[in-house]
Order: sequence, then C-alpha cells, then structure tokens
Amino acid sequence: MTVSVMWFRADLRLHDHGALRSALEAGADGVVPLFVLDEHFPAENMPVRAAYLARLLADFDERIDGLHVVRGRPEVEVPRVVRETGAASVHVTPGHTPYALRRDARVAEALGDVPLVAADSSYAVAPGTVRKGDGSAYKVFTPWFRAWQAQGSHPPVTAVRAHAVPWVRPGGSTPLPDVREIEGVDLPPAGEQAARAHWRRWLDDHVDDYDSERDRPDLDTTSRMSVHLKWGTIHPRTLLADLAERSSAGARAYERQLAFREFYADVLHEWPGSAFGYYNRDYERMQYDEPAGDFEAWREGRTGFPFIDAGMRQLLAQGWMHNRVRMAVASFLVKDLHLEWTHGARWFRERLVDADLANNQHGWQWVAGCGTDAAPYFRVFNPVGQGRRFDPDGAYIRRWVPELRGVQGRGVHEPWTLPDPPADYPPPLVDHAQERLEALRRHDALGG
Ligand code: FAD
Repeated sequence: MTVSVMWFRADLRLHDHGALRSALEAGADGVVPLFVLDEHFPAENMPVRAAYLARLLADFDERIDGLHVVRGRPEVEVPRVVRETGAASVHVTPGHTPYALRRDARVAEALGDVPLVAADSSYAVAPGTVRKGDGSAYKVFTPWFRAWQAQGSHPPVTAVRAHAVPWVRPGGSTPLPDVREIEGVDLPPAGEQAARAHWRRWLDDHVDDYDSERDRPDLDTTSRMSVHLKWGTIHPRTLLADLAERSSAGARAYERQLAFREFYADVLHEWPGSAFGYYNRDYERMQYDEPAGDFEAWREGRTGFPFIDAGMRQLLAQGWMHNRVRMAVASFLVKDLHLEWTHGARWFRERLVDADLANNQHGWQWVAGCGTDAAPYFRVFNPVGQGRRFDPDGAYIRRWVPELRGVQGRGVHEPWTLPDPPADYPPPLVDHAQERLEALRRHDALGG
C-alpha cells in the first residue's frame, strides 16, 4: 500500500496546487490531509490571523470531508503521522520565511529516510530563480521585473476533485479551533471558493480600471486579493493566466503589482536578515525616538491627521488597509514621529489579516528609506497632501472617522483650520513642516 502525507500549510486549496498533485502521484492508495496546529496557537500577538485561520480550517475541513489536524511541534507530529499511517513521503509547498526554512529543515531531519518533498511554490516564479547573467540577485525592482516577465510562469496546475482523492484519516484528530468573532473586526470571507468567486467578480468589474483607480482609497476598487494570496487559497498563476487573456492597461498594471509580491519574496530569499533587520544597515545608526503616547495615538487612529487616522482605523476594523494609505501611515510613523519602522511593522503584523513577512517588512523598509530600491529619504509624505490628492472629496476619511462625517468640503483634510473644529476629534499631534525638517536633519546626520 502506498500512502503519502499532504502537509497543508498556507495552501488550503484544491485548484492549481503542485504539491497536492505530487502527493496524489506518490500516494496511489491514500493521501493523508494533514494540518499541524502550532502548539502556541492562538498566539496572543496574532488575534486577527488566528481568527481567520480558524475560518479557513473549518472551510477546508468541510470541503474535503475531514482534515487531519494535530497540535504540537511539527518535527514531532509529522513523523508521528508518518509512523501511524506507514506513509512513504510527505509533500509540502515550500515556505520561504526564515522560520519556515528552519521548521522544514527540522522536520526533514526528523523524518529520516522518509522524504519531505517540497514541490511547486506559492509564487508564480519560485524565489531565488530570477537572477542576473552573473548569477547574482537583483536589488532594483524594474530590471528584476523585466527578467521575471522573461522567465514567464507555468500555466495553472489541473484542479483536484476532493471526492476523487483516496484520503486517509488516522484517528485522533484534534478538534478544529473555534470560529470566533473578534469584537469590532469585520474579517473577509475565508476559503478557496470565496477567493475564486471574489477574484472572478473583481476581474469582471474592476481590473480594466485598475491602472487609473488603484491609488484611490476612497473608490475602494483594488482587488483585496492580498488576503487570499497570503493564505494560499488561490495561486498567483491562476491570476496571471486570467490576466493574460485581457489586453487592458489595468490588467498590465495588476500584473506589475503582483510582481512586487514576487520581488519581495526574492529579496527575502536572498537576504533573510531583512525580515527583521535593516536591509540597508546604515539606517540602524539613525537617531530614533522611543515609542510612547504618540505611538499609541498612531495605533488608535488619533493623530489628528484625518487621512492617517482613517487608515489606522480601517486597519483595526477590517484587518486591511489600502496600499496608498499604508505608505502614508508608515511615513508618518517614521518621519513625523521619528520611530523605527520595526515598531510599525510589528503592529501591522498583529493587525493585518494579509500580514505577509516579505511584503510587510519590505514595504515598511521601502518607506523608511532603508529597503531595496527604497524611496529617497527626502521624499517625505505630507499627511494632508496625500489625503487631498488621493481622497479628493474626503469620502475615505468620512467613512472611517465618524467624528468628521459632519464636516463638509475639503476642510475635512485639515479640521483644525475650521472655524468650529469638531470637539471630539484631536488636534494634530505634530507640526508636519517642523517634523519633516527634523527627519531630514537626522538623515543628514548619518553622513555619506
Ligand atoms: P491590489 O492593489 O489589488 O494588488 C494586487 C496584489 O498585488 C496584492 O494583493 C498584493 O499581493 C500585490 N501587491 C500590490 N502592491 C504591492 C506592494 N506594494 N508590495 C507587495 N505586493 C503588492 N501586502 C501584503 O500582502 N501583506 C502585507 O503585510 C503588506 N504590508 C505592507 C506594509 C506597508 C508599509 C506597505 C507600504 C505595503 C504593504 N503591503 C502588504 C503591500 C500592499 O499594500 C498590499 O499588498 C495591498 O494593499 C493589498 O491590497 P489589494 O490586494 O487590494 O492590492
């Protein structure tokens, strides 16, 4: 009897799944659908992601009529399942974070002669593949993007039908974590069917205008696929195949954004230290302040800058924030409050349902000036100007900052200038013009 284990991680889906295909080929007589719940789950610092994962597990468990869930350390639990079922191989989509690499190395060692087969990738082009002629890694997005395009991605892998798989379920599955609501947080629908349906709708309704609308948080017409890509309920190959059928500038612009996700994964692959440390270590020496009350105000969306506060409140309410606003709030933290980017990145990882190590840490470092291809430090985002430009009527601000709903016109971007500012909305936490100069002073002090 030939049995294999399909160890699902962030890839709970049946379509376009290379590792699942490889598990099926190896497990002619049975495939164990395994999920290992971390012994510390749910960790206190990831309430939003824990709640979302509970939904994903419930959804997939129902889809395949029973996921085999165990709880504990993977290097103990995966070999245990192998022993119990006599499986001859374990199949995974490789992880790319430093933690995932360490975990998989430990599991591979603990499995001894039973191979841990890392098949496929959660990227269209596996990290570490796009390289310059001399074999070195790119540091700048645009030439990397051209090389990535030239590399091309494979077509989607044929879908697996849940009922056609000879699933094997050893006894003793751990109960699934409870699906709980988190007060005040409205999570997006979870699971592969939700991801695919959402993508189809968005493709029909919005992709062709993506190039002109993607920077406008008030329109709210970006795809919100980040959560599905993060959790692997859809593969980027599937998206790229659909986009290739369209000729609009919107479809091309969307491909380019998807490529940013792939670029940052590549950067992380090449420079794993950039996950938690400075990519450009010169910036470690910059003078930073310690987080205090101003950090609290930022986290709660009470800085007195409406565009910034709208973003931070959207984050709290939806576990998601529009990209333009992510850039503006990140710049505010680093250049107006003079805090290290790592504080903001940690808060994002706690609250974002799409929190992705490569995208988040490098997105932050891009804004903070210390990342690959980073924004020049002197380009300090103006928290009012960003709102005026990308939320011209203030609709985004009014949606997320109820204290300002009654404010008519463009005064909503600077309520402190109104003759009668709303009493329940705070005055600006800082003087942006002054803090901009202070940020530049600290940058100049770095020298070189
Ligand atoms: P769309 O505009 O519809 O884009 C489509 C897809 O392209 C996204 O789902 C995403 O996978 C990818 N993408 C788009 N823009 C970027 C980008 N700048 N960098 C990398 N990939 C991109 N993205 C995350 O997925 N997880 C994070 O934790 C994360 N943290 C960020 C932190 C900061 C400070 C910044 C500036 C950006 C961060 N991003 C992160 C990137 C980007 O903001 C989100 O991917 C995007 O807002 C998700 O919304 P969407 O799916 O509607 O995007």
